[in-house]
Amino acid sequence: MDTLLSKCLLCSLGCDVAFRVKGEAVVGPEFCETGGSHSARVCARGLYGAELMTHPQRVATPLMRRDGVLREASWPVAIDSLASALKSIASTYGPESVAVVTEPTRSTAELEAVGRLARSLGAGAVSCMFEPQDLPLVAHEESAGVAAVVEANCVIVLGDVFFSHAVIAKEIIDAKYTARGNSLFVVDPRLSNTAWFASEHVQNRPGTEALVLACVLKALRASGKMAADAHAWIDSIDEKTLLEAAGVGRDAVARMARTFADAGKAALVVAPAARGMYDVALVARLARLVAEVSGEQKACVLLPSGGNVRGARQAAAKSDWKPFSTLMSELEAGKYRALLSFGADPLAAFPSPALSKAISGLDLVASVSLFRGEFEGASSVVLAGASWLETDGSAVLFDDSVAEWKSVGSPSWGARTLSDVIGLIEAAAGQTAGRPGSSRRDGASAVLDPSRSTLTARIETVRAAAAARAGDELSLVALPATGHAGAGAVTGWMQWAQDVFPGGFCELSAQDAAALGIAENDSVTVESSTARLDLRAKVTDRLKPGVMAVPGYDSSARALFSWQVGEDGWFSTGPGSVRVRRKQ
Ligand code: SF4
Repeated sequence: MDTLLSKCLLCSLGCDVAFRVKGEAVVGPEFCETGGSHSARVCARGLYGAELMTHPQRVATPLMRRDGVLREASWPVAIDSLASALKSIASTYGPESVAVVTEPTRSTAELEAVGRLARSLGAGAVSCMFEPQDLPLVAHEESAGVAAVVEANCVIVLGDVFFSHAVIAKEIIDAKYTARGNSLFVVDPRLSNTAWFASEHVQNRPGTEALVLACVLKALRASGKMAADAHAWIDSIDEKTLLEAAGVGRDAVARMARTFADAGKAALVVAPAARGMYDVALVARLARLVAEVSGEQKACVLLPSGGNVRGARQAAAKSDWKPFSTLMSELEAGKYRALLSFGADPLAAFPSPALSKAISGLDLVASVSLFRGEFEGASSVVLAGASWLETDGSAVLFDDSVAEWKSVGSPSWGARTLSDVIGLIEAAAGQTAGRPGSSRRDGASAVLDPSRSTLTARIETVRAAAAARAGDELSLVALPATGHAGAGAVTGWMQWAQDVFPGGFCELSAQDAAALGIAENDSVTVESSTARLDLRAKVTDRLKPGVMAVPGYDSSARALFSWQVGEDGWFSTGPGSVRVRRKQ
C-alpha cells in the first residue's frame, strides 16, 4: 500500500491531502505529515475528496443525446459529432457565435488550455464562472497568508469561515486560545459557528460589512491610532448614520478597532458567502485600509471560495476573457448559437428563467463534466471529464502562493483529463478562425474598476441599499458551505456533503416565526421577485428579526436571488429580499 500526496482544490486554501493507494485504486484518506502550511489538517472535503474518483454517479464515458435521451457513445464518435457541429455553426453564423466557459476548480494549465481552445475556435467569448463574491474579492487586492492568522493576537472575521474555509477556522480559533488576552471578533448577521467562538459577535444587519469597516476606520481616527492627515475622506463619514444602518453599537465597533490596533499582531479575515455582503470589492478595499492604518504587523486575509480563483483571474487577465455576468447577459440577448462548458454549471449556479430559455434555444450545448448536472440536462454532447486529483497541476491559492500536485491516479473509467479533451477537440475541429491573443485589460478589471467612484460614494450606496427594504420583506442571505463551487456542481454529489449540508430549508428568527404563525419544520412558501419556493422552516435564535437564510449551495434556493448584472457590471453580492408565509 502506498501513500500519495496531493492538494485539495475545493476551496482556496489548497490544503495538503494524502491518500492510501493499492495498485491503481485509491482506498481511503491518510494522515498527511508534510510540512506545508496546512499539514495534518484537512476538512471533510479534503478528507473525502478521493470519493470523486470512484463515485458511482460519475460520467464514465461520453454521452450523446439521441431521441431526447443522453446515451453512451465512444470518444471518437462524440468528438467528431461535437467538431462537426462547431464547424457547421461557425460556417453559418461565424465562429464568434460560439461561447466557452469554465470554472476555477481547475489547474492553471487547464484554464489556459481552455483559453487557447477558445482562441483557436475564434470563439466570441471565453469566461470563467466565478462565484459572485470571488471575483470582486481578488480583482484588485492582495491577501496575506495563513501565518498572519496563526500568529495573531487579535482576529476580526467577516463571514463564517467555519463552513467556508474550515481549516483556517481551526487556526483562527486556536489563535484565540494561544495566549491570554487574545481575541476574536466576528462580524456576521448570523450567530454562525465562527461567531459562537468569538470573544465578541458584532451582529450587523445583512450586507452592511462595508459600513462597519468604515466605522472602524472612523474609530481608529478618533482614538488617534491613525495619522490625522491620512485618508481625509474618513472625516466626511457620518458615523451615526452608518452605525444605524448597520444596526451595531458605537462601543462595540470602537472596542473592535482599538483591540485590533493595540494587538502586537492582528489579522482581518474576509470570507463572504455567495450573497449577503454588498459591494465585496469595497469591503476588500476597506479591510486592506484597516490593516494598513492600524500599524505594524496588521494583515488582511481575503478568502475566495473557489480553489484556483487567483489562477483563473491571472489566466483571464492574459487574454480578453469576459466576466461571466457579461456572458450571461449576452447569452440572454441571443448573441451566441453555441455554448461549450468545461466543468461549469451556469444553470445550477445562476438559476434564472431567462438564462434557461437562452441555453435551451442554442443550436449546440456541450460540456466536459464529472457528473450529470443541470447543464448536462440541456447538453447534446457530454464528455467524461476528470477531477484535478486525476491529473498533475498547479493552482494559485488565496495568498498568491502556488500549489503544485501530482495525480493520485489516472482518470477513472473512460474519463479524460481536461487538457486531453481540449487536444481532441482542437485536432477534430481544426482552426475555424484563430485570432491572436489580446493584450487588452481583462474584462474583470474593467467591470470592477475601484476607481469608478469614490469610497465615500460607494459607502453611501451601500447605506442606501441596506436601508431600502419594504416593511413586510425579510433580507435574504446565503449560508456558506463546503467548496460547493457554484451550487455544489461537484461536491453536491457526495453523500457526506448531502448529509452535512442538506438543502430545502430556510432559517428565520423566532420572533418572525411567531409573528407569521410559523413553527419549526412547517412548510412555508418563500417568494422573491425571481422565484417562489416551498421550503421547510428552521426557527432559530441565530438570526435577528427581519433576516432569512437559505443554503447558498442549494441551486433551487439560489433562484430566490436575482442574478441580474449590477451597475458595476458584475453580479450583486448583497442580500436579496423575500416574503414568507406558512403554507396552508
Ligand atoms: S475544502 Fe478547503 S479547508 Fe477543506 S481540505 Fe479542501 S482546501 Fe482545505
